[in-house]
Amino acid sequence: MVSWKCSNCGYTLEADVPPEQCPSYGEKCEFIDISCYIPGCDTGTGVDNRL
Ligand SMILES: [Zn+2]
Repeated sequence: MVSWKCSNCGYTLEADVPPEQCPSYGEKCEFIDISCYIPGCDTGTGVDNRL
């Protein structure tokens, strides 16, 4: 699973592929991969809070 964050409203979700529409407000928006993959990310949640 990959963690995604809506670049418009900040809504986050986990999915293999991000939805085309934001579930939060039903508009098409861009999802950013915020999964923990950068060295130094040790939040323990799988989400990098710096992204
Ligand atoms: Zn959104």
